Formats: sequence, C-alpha cells, structure tokens
Amino acid sequence: MKLKKGGFMRNLKLLLPIAMAFTLVGCNKQSEKIVIPDIEESGTVVILATGGTIAGSGEEGKETGYKPGSISVESLIASVPGIEEVAPLQAIQVCNINSDDITSEIWITLAKTINELAPNPDVAGFVITHGTDTMEETAYFLNLAVSTKKPVVITGSMRPSTSLSADGPMNLYQSVVVAASEEAIGKGVLGVFSDSIYSARSMQKVSSFDVTAISAGPMGALGFVRNNEVFFYEASTKRHTETSEFTIAPTDTMTSLPDVPIIYFNADADPSIIDWAINHEAKGLVIAGAGAGEFSEKFINSLNGITNIPIVISSRIDSGVITQDSVLVKHAVAANDLPPHKASILLRMAIAKTKDLTQEKLIEIYKTY
Ligand code: GLU
Repeated sequence: MKLKKGGFMRNLKLLLPIAMAFTLVGCNKQSEKIVIPDIEESGTVVILATGGTIAGSGEEGKETGYKPGSISVESLIASVPGIEEVAPLQAIQVCNINSDDITSEIWITLAKTINELAPNPDVAGFVITHGTDTMEETAYFLNLAVSTKKPVVITGSMRPSTSLSADGPMNLYQSVVVAASEEAIGKGVLGVFSDSIYSARSMQKVSSFDVTAISAGPMGALGFVRNNEVFFYEASTKRHTETSEFTIAPTDTMTSLPDVPIIYFNADADPSIIDWAINHEAKGLVIAGAGAGEFSEKFINSLNGITNIPIVISSRIDSGVITQDSVLVKHAVAANDLPPHKASILLRMAIAKTKDLTQEKLIEIYKTY
C-alpha cells in the first residue's frame, strides 16, 4: 500500500479553510448545502464526519452519559497521532448528530458528495465517521448509491472521545489506512472497526457496549488491518458501487427516499399495524417475520389484501436465507439474507430508481444486491 508522508501542520493548513467554507448541516438544516472543496494533493483521503460516539464527549474517563456528535472533525483528526503520515486529509463536517437521527436526506448528501469528488484523480478514497447504531444502514445505502472503485470506508467508536481508552482514534487511523490502500479498490463500501474490515452488506452492530461491537455474523470479516498494512482474504460477490443500478449522481434531483416501514411480527401481534402503515401512505412494506420469515394466519390474511405496493419478507432472526418458495404471501418477495433494516433500504432505492416494480424484477434485485 502507498503511504503519503507529510507533517501535521500541513494537514492543519488544509483543514482550517475547510472549517470556514463548510456550513454545518444539522438534522434540522438539511437545505444547507455542502461546498465541495478543491483537492489538489495526490492521494488525499476525504473524511466526511457525521457525528456519533466517535465525536462524543462527556465526563472525563466515563464510558456512558456522554453526548454523541459533540466534537468537530478537526478535533477528531487532531486526536489521532500519526494519521498525517498515512495520507493527506481533507475534512468535511456533513453534520454532527447521534446516528439515530440520520435521515435519507443526509444519506443522499453523502452519496452526492462522494460521487462528485470521486472522479478527482487526487482523491484516493473516503472515510465516513458515524454513530454505530445505524452505521450499517448508511454503509449499505452508500454501497448502492455511490459509483466509484475508490475505497469508501465507514467507521465509528463505542467509547466517546473523553473516555479512558477511547477506541475512536484507532478506528479512524485504521480507516484512513484502508481508504488510502490499493487493496481496498473495487471492494465496495467497507466498515473498519477494531482491526477488522467488513462488507457494507454484511456488517452489523452486535453489542451495545463491546469495542468489537461491529461484526458480520456468519459471513465474517473480509480482512484485517495491522499498523499500516491491509490484509484482505474475502470479497463480496454482490452488485455494489460501480455496478449498482441505483447510483445517485451529484445532479440527481432526489432529496429523500420513499417511506417503507418495517413491521415487526411477534407472537399474538395485532395485524392492524399493517392497516396503519397503509393509511399513512407507505410506498412499500418490509415484514420482519419469525424464523424463515413466517407470521400468523391473521398477518397472512391482512397482507394478502395489499396488492398495490410491494411487500418484502425478511426475518427478525440474525442469520439464514429466506427463499422465494417459503414466502407465505404469494405476491411478496423474499429478502434473501438481508435483515429488515437493509431490506427496507433496498426497497426504498428500488422504488425511487426503478420504473419496473414487478415481483419478478424485485426478486432479481433481492438476489443481486
Ligand atoms: N446512539 C449513538 C449513535 O449512534 C451512539 C452509538 C455509537 O455511536 O456508538 O450515534
């Protein structure tokens, strides 16, 4: 992998004008635009900061009771010794929020910004800093919406910047190493967390406190990072980034994604929640069924009555595949192995981007992405 030498003062020089040029996009100020910076230094890694625990601050030394999205991207970078030796950096503060407040408007801003900057020959790759709660959703959305072979890496932390042994600096350092590496080219959007590299499609948060809270279930990691070296062993076989049909170009007029609620099935669940979603103009539904995407006769009867919007069947359990022949509602579509929250993102993208929403086309989409 290619390492770029340079001093931290040089990075500061780069960062200060950007701090002035960029308007902070808070969750209530989505109309404000991101200004795309001029990038002229070869091998630059662009850091797009969105907030989360990695930018959290609270009582010195404590792991809990902090406020996510409190410190700026400049402070975040300044807290990582040696990061300036890895690659020249450009920082963009996209927003600074708890990732539970992420919206499809912010996703689209991220995708358009990356798609605008990616063709610049001086850009090596991208790192997005993010809260871990919804990191896997942003990663999967970007895997569908960005069109580049250049590495796009998402990271975060489980401990705020003010805690003892904060894990953010190491995760950010390793993410820049991966984003600057030639090995990560063409691998789709990647999650880097606690020494491991995951595919956007398989990564998931599996613990509420462990510093190894990001995992990839039965699919496992794609590789690892040790110091400044990247080791890949696997790659995703699914369509993503450059081969995706769901690219959101910088000039795209789309500003948000259509609404696709997830309906969680549990024993004795009242199916009137399905009617509620329909009455609130859901453009599609994802059912988080039990086991292999199963639910009660009452749910089957309700869902059989809905033929004007697509229905996708996923499962509330952690692993396994839902096959089309096991789907209980014959006009519905199996989510394959996507969990409900990722199945919903794919359906939102399909509704937004595809004219052809036949069951046949959607079955193909869920097998492909
Ligand atoms: N809920 C916060 C967030 O996702 C904290 C979780 C985290 O970042 O680890 O931004």
